[in-house]
Amino acid sequence: MFEKILIANRGEIALRIQRACRELGIKTVVVHSEADRDAKYVRLADESVCIGPAPARDSYLNMPAIISAAEVTDSEAIHPGYGFLAENADFAERVEKSGFVFIGPRPESIRIMGDKVCAKQAMIEAGVPVVPGSEGALPEDPDEIFRIAREVGYPVIIKAAGGGGGRGMRVVYTEAALQNAVAMTRNEAGAAFNNPEVYMEKFLENPRHIEIQILADGVRNAIWLGERDCSMQRRHQKVIEEAPAPGIARRLIERIGERCADACRKMNYRGAGTFEFLYENGEFFFIEMNTRIQVEHTITEMVTGIDLVQQQIKIAAGEKFLLRQRDVVFKGHAIECRINAEDPFKFTPSPGRITNWHTPGGPGVRMDSHVFAGYTVPPNYDSMIAKLITYGDTREQAIARMEIALSEMVVEGVQTNIPLHRELMQDARFVEGGTSIHYLEHKLSQRP
Ligand code: ADP
Repeated sequence: MFEKILIANRGEIALRIQRACRELGIKTVVVHSEADRDAKYVRLADESVCIGPAPARDSYLNMPAIISAAEVTDSEAIHPGYGFLAENADFAERVEKSGFVFIGPRPESIRIMGDKVCAKQAMIEAGVPVVPGSEGALPEDPDEIFRIAREVGYPVIIKAAGGGGGRGMRVVYTEAALQNAVAMTRNEAGAAFNNPEVYMEKFLENPRHIEIQILADGVRNAIWLGERDCSMQRRHQKVIEEAPAPGIARRLIERIGERCADACRKMNYRGAGTFEFLYENGEFFFIEMNTRIQVEHTITEMVTGIDLVQQQIKIAAGEKFLLRQRDVVFKGHAIECRINAEDPFKFTPSPGRITNWHTPGGPGVRMDSHVFAGYTVPPNYDSMIAKLITYGDTREQAIARMEIALSEMVVEGVQTNIPLHRELMQDARFVEGGTSIHYLEHKLSQRP
């Protein structure tokens, strides 16, 4: 096992990784920007290194500074968390070339999954169902594009091969709008992702977002750890996640889970990963694979009892992978609410000093947060300040516990989306379960 790991991230995930290391008896080095100097997890770490000023491009995205920090602290491995450099194949490669272990997949796997056209191709080859659409990137010939769209059937969605974070997509309802939409998406993709390649998919009108968590050791052992329903989204950003997904037959989940594990074996995938699907009318359609730990990994931990971050570390250290599919036993129901420092009605970020902070507790309540009273939420990064997770024997119990937990939580000094979460816990459609990815936006548009 490693003796010392460098954590190349910030906020709650930096603390989460630190906790996993501690339990495994591993020393931690936290790198931080000038804006995060006073964070609690920085002080809790065995060592810390300031790697630059507040803007992420000068600190958390600064590859040479991070690698130097690993060198001067004699770290053996680097955990990238999520966001920042977590899915940057060049970074993973530089880490390994500098003699450190990258706690994540091989750079080639990250590269393939980062190009959505390649990722889709890999899934087709591995037998994972994908959204019907163009075979690979769209050609130049407009007639050919028209033909493909007619075959797929309108509405279609034009997506950038290099896209991410919900950007670089355009829905097309009619043939008249097609050519222009393709040209515009190509231009944007070229400018934003340095890759003008675009592809076409059938636009699914009312799907749910269901994803499958996997773990694999890179030598053909792979298991799946159930699904998460992340359909409650605003602007393609997840707001609430839950496991298991309400109302989907277990045999369907088992079938798709097996396909994902099988794809990992075929690709020789290493580490934790998530296969994201759109689910409509009883069918799963792959949209992308995330080659990192995800924000919502917590709910899978709650229903399986398996520590995913520790598993990532063990796999990276080359420990024998002992988990087998039969060891993954699902129990109960878990819900995660992402608590953001933002205006609950306008959704504008609300950074600043937190003057009062009281977190909930009690049976089945988990709080993953780096925040404390007196902490200042910097304006430079993502607005998520906490993840509140509740667990229950049943979905009803998890919801009831979440309602209580949200009602106990006190945050003063910044605005948060807690009122929205409280509203959603009471929402008849949410309580019923199985809402689509458009539900929240629709609900918000009906607000007076
Ligand atoms: P990103 O990497 O930018 O997150 P995804 O491919 O994961 O891109 O798509 C992001 C979101 O866009 C999905 O969660 C879904 O809401 C919507 N979307 C993507 N593809 C389709 C599709 N074929 N039909 C309907 N919605 C889609």
